[in-house]
Amino acid sequence: MLNGPSPIFPEELLPLKRFHGHLGPYVVMGYRMGKVARERYPGRIHAIVFCGSKRPCSCMADGVQFASCCTLGKSNIEIVKDGQPAAIFTDGNTAMEIAIQPPVVSRIDEQMTHENEEDLSLEIYQMDDEILLRVNM
Ligand SMILES: [Zn+2]
Repeated sequence: MLNGPSPIFPEELLPLKRFHGHLGPYVVMGYRMGKVARERYPGRIHAIVFCGSKRPCSCMADGVQFASCCTLGKSNIEIVKDGQPAAIFTDGNTAMEIAIQPPVVSRIDEQMTHENEEDLSLEIYQMDDEILLRVNM
């Protein structure tokens, strides 16, 4: 795994990498969660992100902010410093919980190194939402 040539860097991820400073699997996961949530809640939206205060998991909060329109400046996001990597989004009427599928969490935690984090991120980015995310409405 990860010995082949690096996947081509998708243009969609450049602004995210620029915003966050590097590209790791958790910022990509937060980005994917935020995209799914924003699609469901294109108007009013609020997020609670469970991602801890330690990297790499805390990187998820930046991906969520980048994609969901929930930002610290607008006070429509809360960061909870414990729990499994997941987020709850609401528009005030309904809510959805989005968690990272456990095998994906295990894979990131077991395989990610400083050297391969970008390649692993790109690989994860190519995967379908159903493989990456568990959504409860
Ligand atoms: Zn990060």
